Amino acid sequence: MSVKWGLIGASAIARQFMINAIRAQADGKIAAVMSSSPERAQAYAVENNIPLAVSTLDELLGEDVDAVYISTTNELHLEQALAAIEAGKHVLCEKPLALASADARRMVAAARDAGIVLGTNHHLRNAGAHRAMREAVAAGRIGRPIAARVFHSVYLPENLQGWRITKPEAGGGVVLDITVHDADTLRFVLGDDPVEVSAFTQAAGMAGGGLEDGAMCIWRFKSGLIAQSHEGFTTKFAGTGFEVHGSQGSLIASDVMTQRPGGLVLLRTAEGEEQLSFDHEDLYVRSVRQFHAAIHGGGQPAATGEDGVWSLASAEAALQSANSGKAVKIDPKLGSMK
Ligand code: NDP
Repeated sequence: MSVKWGLIGASAIARQFMINAIRAQADGKIAAVMSSSPERAQAYAVENNIPLAVSTLDELLGEDVDAVYISTTNELHLEQALAAIEAGKHVLCEKPLALASADARRMVAAARDAGIVLGTNHHLRNAGAHRAMREAVAAGRIGRPIAARVFHSVYLPENLQGWRITKPEAGGGVVLDITVHDADTLRFVLGDDPVEVSAFTQAAGMAGGGLEDGAMCIWRFKSGLIAQSHEGFTTKFAGTGFEVHGSQGSLIASDVMTQRPGGLVLLRTAEGEEQLSFDHEDLYVRSVRQFHAAIHGGGQPAATGEDGVWSLASAEAALQSANSGKAVKIDPKLGSMK
């Protein structure tokens, strides 16, 4: 049985990764694309060989589609996801799920009540490197995890220097863009949840409108582990990395906070240094495969709606901390969902 997808948003991420990822599935088909502009919808459909272009959500949801992929700007995710859920469509939504974690919880509750699969497109969970690190941590290969460091400050490509650096009302800023990914990847690799964050943000010359284009966060996790993460849009030459340091060893990964598979993961212990091997599957192809399996009753999306609430609650707390100058507790309040 094929899964027919409707794309909500004529976006760069769909063009660069997700259209291919859906078509890479034996049972994946793209039926329609929606853009708020009829001309852009039509041009995007032609460019990407999509049979139908529509310019309203009602039209898209009235089509014979099983699932929607939402990759509009962040302030639109909530309303579009709730409408899709009400129409009985499964929803794979881009991060952040919404602008506020309370709204993300509404999405999760609505999907749960309707029996709909809701996934958050946190691609990094699908990276072979991060899965290898998670397995090594869970298998006790570094002993008791003590501290982690995430290096995820990049240079925002020119074609993406739009709403992310100019529009607070669209959910711009590096914290909602990248810190959400770092919070999620830390949770995934460590198998632990953050409980508190302290953050500094900066405007280093790219972002305007009061938005931040750099952030450094310090996180405390349930186990007592502490972590630091650095997110940025303006550092051309920084490189990326992810480290976990434990009582018996360290995991040191480089070039792994990216959209493409690859990078290097070293395990350093008293026995010496070992390079971990892992698969190099496309991250987004794996994400869609897991989502299809969840639709067919086989498990959950790689990152669930609840995971999306966690990452947004974490980013929200980081922003509150940066604004207040105080450490802020993180509570996704998943237990209080009606
Ligand atoms: P884009 O800016 O490419 O697209 C977002 C929206 O902007 C589109 O839905 C479109 O609206 C509008 N738009 C696009 N091109 C134009 C244009 N030329 N003129 C006017 N409006 C235009 O965003 P991204 O693809 O970078 O991001 C979309 C979402 O995906 C965000 O939520 C982001 O956080 C997330 N993302 C996730 C990534 C991941 O790896 N998980 C990576 C990158 C982004 P319309 O549909 O109405 O035409």
